[in-house]
Amino acid sequence: MLNKITDKKLQITSLVNEVNRLSPQHALGLQKLNIENIKDLFYHFPARYVDVREISGTVNLTKGQAVTIYGIMDKVTIKRSFRGHMPMTECNVIDNSGKIRCIWFNQAYIGKMYPNETRVRVSGVVQEDSRGFFLSNPQIEKTGIDHPEHIDSLFAKNADVEFLTPIYRETKGVSSLFLYTLIKKSVNKGVLENLEDPIPKEILEKLHLPQLKEALLYIHFPKNEKLTVAARKRFAFEEIFYLQIKQQAERKKVKHSKSYKINKNPKELKDFIKSFPFKPTEAQLNAIDQILNDLSKQEPMGRLLEGDVGSGKTFVAAVCCHEIIKNKADNGQILQVAYMAPTEILAKQHFESFIKFFKNTNIEIGLLTSKGCKKFPSKTNTDNSTDISRTQLLKWIKEGKINIVIGTHSLIQKSVEFGNLAFVIIDEQHRFGVKQRKELVHNKSEKIPHLLSMTATPIPRTLALTIFGDLDLTVIDEMPKERKPIITEIVPVTKRKEIYEHIRKELKNKRQVYVVCPRIDEQDEEEKQKRILKSVKEEAERLSSDVFPEFIVDVLHSKMKPKEKEEVMQDFLDKKSDILVATSVVEVGINVPNASVMVIEGADRFGLAQLHQLRGRVGRAEHQSYCYLFTDNMGESSQRRLISLVKSKNGFELAEIDMLNRGIGTLADGKQWGMSDMAMEAIKNPKLVEIAREEAKKIIEKDEELKMYPLLKSITEDKDSVHME
Ligand code: ADP
Ligand code: MG
Repeated sequence: MLNKITDKKLQITSLVNEVNRLSPQHALGLQKLNIENIKDLFYHFPARYVDVREISGTVNLTKGQAVTIYGIMDKVTIKRSFRGHMPMTECNVIDNSGKIRCIWFNQAYIGKMYPNETRVRVSGVVQEDSRGFFLSNPQIEKTGIDHPEHIDSLFAKNADVEFLTPIYRETKGVSSLFLYTLIKKSVNKGVLENLEDPIPKEILEKLHLPQLKEALLYIHFPKNEKLTVAARKRFAFEEIFYLQIKQQAERKKVKHSKSYKINKNPKELKDFIKSFPFKPTEAQLNAIDQILNDLSKQEPMGRLLEGDVGSGKTFVAAVCCHEIIKNKADNGQILQVAYMAPTEILAKQHFESFIKFFKNTNIEIGLLTSKGCKKFPSKTNTDNSTDISRTQLLKWIKEGKINIVIGTHSLIQKSVEFGNLAFVIIDEQHRFGVKQRKELVHNKSEKIPHLLSMTATPIPRTLALTIFGDLDLTVIDEMPKERKPIITEIVPVTKRKEIYEHIRKELKNKRQVYVVCPRIDEQDEEEKQKRILKSVKEEAERLSSDVFPEFIVDVLHSKMKPKEKEEVMQDFLDKKSDILVATSVVEVGINVPNASVMVIEGADRFGLAQLHQLRGRVGRAEHQSYCYLFTDNMGESSQRRLISLVKSKNGFELAEIDMLNRGIGTLADGKQWGMSDMAMEAIKNPKLVEIAREEAKKIIEKDEELKMYPLLKSITEDKDSVHME
């Protein structure tokens, strides 16, 4: 009996305390790092590796040498630089052989974060001044170790192996070294021996990726860089692949359920399109075609419509709504549409546009927001809408009397029940979680509605396919022809005055202006919010007292409550203010056609795709519009980036440029999409994403229940493995 127990091999699912006895402090630290079992431990990948050849002591330094030094903080002082008023931190880092002076300019917080006696690792290039050698703004990290003792042999410096030692993200009580020891122990206890790989071998072979067991060894006990890269690639693929399996399975499940079959009415469709004051673009017609094709089938549609700001997605949505309401349910009742907008203002705007589009079609439209409800047409005045009570509107929606209901989040509340909900449109859906989207789709009636999700966020195709893998994709890649291009200009400090005079002319012509304050990169969230607020307030103050005293300046920032934001936007829309100083919160969906100038301060600090989104807030009516990129960074690479914005009018193109130049992180925060940074990196590789999707599709096609793939099944059922919600 006893023997059996000691013989029992550890499994990947075994708890970490079976590997090693844990002190309460260890346990707490591991919990903080979300490490419970061996799998969590193995998937706590090294944040990076230190090449032992680069680790130096503080002796024998030479000017210009790149060094990494392990030591202890000493004589930490925070002071102001003697010329300017720039705060700076200065200290010595002491190691066994001596010390080196370190200086961080403009970073007083370093002194607070790393007080005397903190063990740190600093990396930088050796510089020299009258006081001797020092490191200027070196990278600094806390570390639990004096120097990397767990490099098995520091003496192996000349051998061709084990130069790389993994450095793990640490927390109080759990050092990088401790994590390394735990991992090593687990491996020694045979955890990897019976480990099976959930990913079919053929797929890995096709991509030349290592199997799970090898990949784990390569990533934690690297022999050389090539192997760690292969391992990271495997784990990135793995994440994308599991995500795809899950999404394809879900997609398949949805396909079994039934939706309303929408018959086409070519003649009425044509007439409806003709009732608009413009000619649709080819891209719009193509999108309509794809959607109507989907709708004509029994199986529910799930489609993402991506199109640049102003490409006319609302028109596409309206035409599809028209098709829906021309059809009837089997019981002869009307079919209904729910149109969900991200803000109250946008919901109201859509409501008003839809009244215009549909006023001759004899249908009922409802507006449902937390602020109040409306219905079109009014009984007494059939050209207008009227306020009604929420209870009344809900009753009519349930009885199937309202054809199109437009609203905000309110639309997905339990109290909202539809008679025959056939079509759901979600505008700017990335602001809604996947979960909310599902809640809407899983409606009360036994049939489930078709779903059209629209977004202007220019995300590259690979990313879209990954995060919205359960949807089909249509892209509107063409803008209406007669639209005047927005004049975009890079404005150096010296030209500021001149541009302000031009803006004054626009303001005098009754146009309105947005001023977006620079992005703030600050780790500490609270500090960041404080600084954002300060910059917005200061800029507003400066503009209203020094630059444009004759105009009204208002502010909008993310610290405001949603209700306050709505009020400020409404005032701007009603022209109660002329200039809106804001953070990048104005980026999404807002439509103030009268605004003709977008000023972006510190433009070089934004991603291109985001700048493009901001630019899209103007040029929404017939007025010639301008986008001014204010910057004091005349560096070549930021100038080059800004020039590509001046030249390109295409958000997707800019998103791709951003992705290639600065990494996908600038486009979209991985966490926002539920993906690790590693997977976000892998998204850059279209082939990998395509294969993950294709292979996942194939597997689900042939074995929907994953009966032949029990490991995959358990992984996709484990909600933690795919953090989509
Ligand atoms: P978005 O894709 O940003 O939602 P909208 O649907 O709001 O764009 O369209 C922006 C403006 O362009 C609206 O005023 C709309 O009426 C107009 N519009 C849409 N399609 C066309 C077209 N083909 N030609 C001219 N104007 C159009
Ligand atoms: Mg829109």
